Amino acid sequence: SPAQIGVTGLAVMGRNLARNFARRGYTVAVHNRTAARTRELVAEFGGEGDFVPATTAEEFVAALERPRRLVVMVKAGEPTDAVIEEFAPLLAEGDIIVDGGNAHFADTRRRERSLRERGIHFVGAGISGGEEGALNGPSIMPGGPAESWEALRPLLESVAAKAADGTPCTAHIGPDGAGHFVKMVHNGIEYADMQLIAEAYDLLRTVAGYEPARIAEVFRTWNTGRLDSYLIEITAEVLAHTDAATGLPFVDVVADRAEQKGTGRWTVQTALDLGVPVSGIAEAVFARSLSGHAGLREACAELPGPRCQVLDERDAARFADQVEQALYASKVISYAQGWNMMQAASAEYGWGVDLADVAAIWRGGCIIRAAFLDRVRAACAADPALPTLLADEEFAEEVGEAQPAWRTAVATAVRYGVPVPGLSAALASYDALRAERLPAALTQGQRDYFGAHTYRRTDREGAFHTRWGQDRSEVRADG
Ligand code: NDP
Repeated sequence: SPAQIGVTGLAVMGRNLARNFARRGYTVAVHNRTAARTRELVAEFGGEGDFVPATTAEEFVAALERPRRLVVMVKAGEPTDAVIEEFAPLLAEGDIIVDGGNAHFADTRRRERSLRERGIHFVGAGISGGEEGALNGPSIMPGGPAESWEALRPLLESVAAKAADGTPCTAHIGPDGAGHFVKMVHNGIEYADMQLIAEAYDLLRTVAGYEPARIAEVFRTWNTGRLDSYLIEITAEVLAHTDAATGLPFVDVVADRAEQKGTGRWTVQTALDLGVPVSGIAEAVFARSLSGHAGLREACAELPGPRCQVLDERDAARFADQVEQALYASKVISYAQGWNMMQAASAEYGWGVDLADVAAIWRGGCIIRAAFLDRVRAACAADPALPTLLADEEFAEEVGEAQPAWRTAVATAVRYGVPVPGLSAALASYDALRAERLPAALTQGQRDYFGAHTYRRTDREGAFHTRWGQDRSEVRADG
């Protein structure tokens, strides 16, 4: 029988996604540039369902029912263009190419435009959850034409993760690059979440004097409350792990240089272009870069820092609670920033992204899945025009209540010399957003002084300039 879906690119992600479709009862055509991978897949997992192995692109395309649905899971960048160019000439009007790789949304916009002109539907789909997710249920963020969503919907809903209430973690995000954009912001938020968790760990270790195994217990407790999430859960697992070779805590034998594949950097670069402050994500990306600058760190290793005593048992317990509050409030700020970024892009590109849907499909399958996202979903659904999560009554109240402890945690970090760029940037964002007057007024004065860039007044309409170099009289600058 003809295959309902095809997967080309059978490295870990493609193979697992193909198996996921087959296990759900679909007939899956499978193809890979190097045919050995296709043979291996069928030899090892052929018993899991109906696979139609194809050696050539022609065989692969011929195996698919019309309109054809083919998923490309190859290395992002040039390989994706090469594969699209290989298949597009073999396809017919209305066929659908899904790119499930980690493409940059600008590439997806370009590919979608060019394929649309050739009558082919192109769906840039963000897929999160790593290899385990691909096999057992990822969160899937498809962009592209609405008709292709209708054609893909039953298949994607079937293989996607299910949220606690049973709804599939996939939804049509919007046209062209919307899906890959949202996936990029997901990864940016993931960076921010991970950085905040790392800072909380560092504080518990340095200020409270807790050992990793004890910190694992603290995280396990946090995971039963409002911080309940996959990342907190695995943090406890990693901290509780002992290195077999040395008997030391695993976290003490791992080199402290964090690596990155680039989606966090893309998020920050894009945020700069859109003019949306995402300081939590930016600090997380910079923290990873800093950790890798061995030369700089060595050059600064002897610089003086404060000398502080580890807290006693009672104060340490109180401090741990303050750190939980700081972590939670900062997490709300990072998500609010990520949400603002999606709002801005949706407006800029006319995508019409439903932010309640985004929260809903991140509740399961993806790396940032968390109980918290159900509340974000509810807040966005209750008011689709919500300017920021901080304007939601419940979040505002929680962050407001956490605020004194958050300040104490950040102030303590500063006193102890523990770097907390994520926690402190989040607090600075909170304070800047709630400020009645910002020193931006002074910045405008300086700009007018050295560059005649003009300023606006609080009491009158119009643009003004002060003749700083002459008699300091004020003139209208807008004609
Ligand atoms: P890789 O990114 O390692 O890519 C390997 C696959 O790409 C192989 O099938 C390879 O074929 C194929 N390929 C590379 N270059 C070409 C080319 N020029 N022409 C044809 N095929 C080519 O595989 P992953 O499974 O790790 O990831 C697949 C995609 O999913 C990537 O875009 C990745 O960013 C994304 N992704 C990965 C996640 C993960 O956890 N790994 C999570 C979410 C998304 P061959 O066997 O012939 O070399």
